[in-house]
Amino acid sequence: MFDPKVEKLLNEQVVAEMYSANLYLSMSAWFREKSLDGYANWFYVQYKEEMDHALIIYNFILNAGGTVTLGGIDAPPTEFKGIREILAESLAHERLVTSLIYAINEAALGVKDYKTVQFLDWFIQEQVEEEDNASTNLSRYDLFGADPKGLFSLDEELGARGYTQTAQVAVYEGGA
Ligand code: MG
Repeated sequence: MFDPKVEKLLNEQVVAEMYSANLYLSMSAWFREKSLDGYANWFYVQYKEEMDHALIIYNFILNAGGTVTLGGIDAPPTEFKGIREILAESLAHERLVTSLIYAINEAALGVKDYKTVQFLDWFIQEQVEEEDNASTNLSRYDLFGADPKGLFSLDEELGARGYTQTAQVAVYEGGA
């Protein structure tokens, strides 16, 4: 069972993670069109991870006796000014997501919903990593991106990122 406010915020977070997924998929498409296939790969993997995040929260709501009520997903931007704009936007977006996770945590603490507080621990840690990754992408671009060879190397490096389903997905699908 959930306090209605916490349940509403968790449901909104499922949709927010799906929005993140679509935002990164839209960015991935932009990179593919520019033949920056490594960057495209990195954002494609990011898309999949965001869908994992949505499913983790979705299953947690159901496992904990809540009701899933999915709202609409806003359309992501489809046009971007350039590589730097995308990298800066993805960092700003992850900072926003962190603030959303913190707001759910605060609401859960306010009603002594410790199961949700404990559940959100993983997301709080994950956001540290997400912000770090986005920040690294931006600073590396600022350091090396202006040089064509530097950009080529960065693109190659990001092309090596593989996707493994987030372990938490199986944990919550199992009804833990
Ligand atoms: Mg996420």
